[in-house]
Amino acid sequence: MKILKFGGTSVGSAPRIKGLLDIVDPKERQIVVLSAVAGTTNVLVEIGQAFTAGLKDEAIKLIKEHKEKYEGLIAELFSTADGLQKGKNLIDYHFNYITSLGNELFTTTEERAVLAQGELLSTALFHYHLEEIGVPSVLLPALDFMKIDEDNEPIVSYIKEMLSELLDEYPNNMLFITQGYICRNSFGEIDNLRRGGSDYTASLVGAAIQAEEVQIWTDIDGMHNNDPRIVNNTTPIANLSFDEAAELAYFGAKILHPQSVFPAQKYNVPVRLLNTLDPNAHGTLISKEGGDKGQIRAIAAKDGITAIHIHSSRMLLAYGFLRKIFEIFERYKTPIDMITTSEVAVSLTVDDTKHLEDIIKEVEDFGRVSIDYNQTIVCVVGDFSANMHGYAARVLDAVKHLPLRMISYGGSDYNVSILVDTDHKVEALRSIHNRLF
Ligand code: ASP
Ligand code: MG
Repeated sequence: MKILKFGGTSVGSAPRIKGLLDIVDPKERQIVVLSAVAGTTNVLVEIGQAFTAGLKDEAIKLIKEHKEKYEGLIAELFSTADGLQKGKNLIDYHFNYITSLGNELFTTTEERAVLAQGELLSTALFHYHLEEIGVPSVLLPALDFMKIDEDNEPIVSYIKEMLSELLDEYPNNMLFITQGYICRNSFGEIDNLRRGGSDYTASLVGAAIQAEEVQIWTDIDGMHNNDPRIVNNTTPIANLSFDEAAELAYFGAKILHPQSVFPAQKYNVPVRLLNTLDPNAHGTLISKEGGDKGQIRAIAAKDGITAIHIHSSRMLLAYGFLRKIFEIFERYKTPIDMITTSEVAVSLTVDDTKHLEDIIKEVEDFGRVSIDYNQTIVCVVGDFSANMHGYAARVLDAVKHLPLRMISYGGSDYNVSILVDTDHKVEALRSIHNRLF
């Protein structure tokens, strides 16, 4: 069985929803995972924020405007009176529900319920469209099988059990549709897998049912070997290993939600990134095997990085020092991305600065702290195993005219990362690209 995930733009309009059947073959047994219609989740976030801030009028205004957008969409999507009525009832139901949540005490629980409406709408619209044109499909409610634990970690065993039971109820059906992004948490409340989480849903579903392949359909022809908005002549990467994909997905290659690589890797389910606008193109295949060895695969960048440098003579010949530093970050649930050390200093980077002030206050007990804001990690992914000497030198040579804040090499066999001021990012990406490809 295959899993096909379509993002917001792929369901962004009536023609796009109808066009899904150019790719989805209703005769093949598969699960289609859909995101919300493009823009919807952003609006739902705004609605949630308005309710939270007590700006009820503002929220109602947003709800009304967005509902009108859906009214336009269904008018174009459905051609029978019956279909149109179903579409109308559907959007009435969901937008009334969102409005009604604003009448209650509005906590994060209500907010997450608001956020879930986008995927519930898009999947039902596709399902009703198929019904109208006589294509059988089954709508599988993600809230009946997607579950995360207290640490927000998806429970694959639970997903597997519940989803298998659901699928067993429909032995003769081919086409299943479900919502990306949404799930239940350990309290049984509606929750989600964080922004962009529909890819993660697809990968978890693929892992749970041991799918033959997970396909992520977007509007570009796979993952590129550099940022096409910044660098000319980028090319799609044909084959990537799971490890390389994990590095790239984190470092800003926005095409794939970073966490989606892990379930696919753990359960060895290949992930293919494909282009709805060019369905026959090869795209990017992420698999255990990956591409040819001994090559540089891609360059990616991540902005919004803050570097923290801690200088302490107490670190000299001491043990347990790094643990104490790391514990502070752990307590504030702040992931550290890059780290370099010397005998008396350690530098690390974070992209989540929510608790930065508190963290710094505690870290200052250990030594002198300085901070660089507006940094970018430039990450080169490929075969950097020790026997491939020369690649790291070429990367550094390509940026020798730029001030480098940090260099990380040897953390894995797959990447070399450098930290530069964001002002130098474009130059770094172009220069390394020209040097390596
Ligand atoms: N609709 C959600 C979002 O915009 C999930 C997704 O699209 O992957 O973040
Ligand atoms: Mg996405």
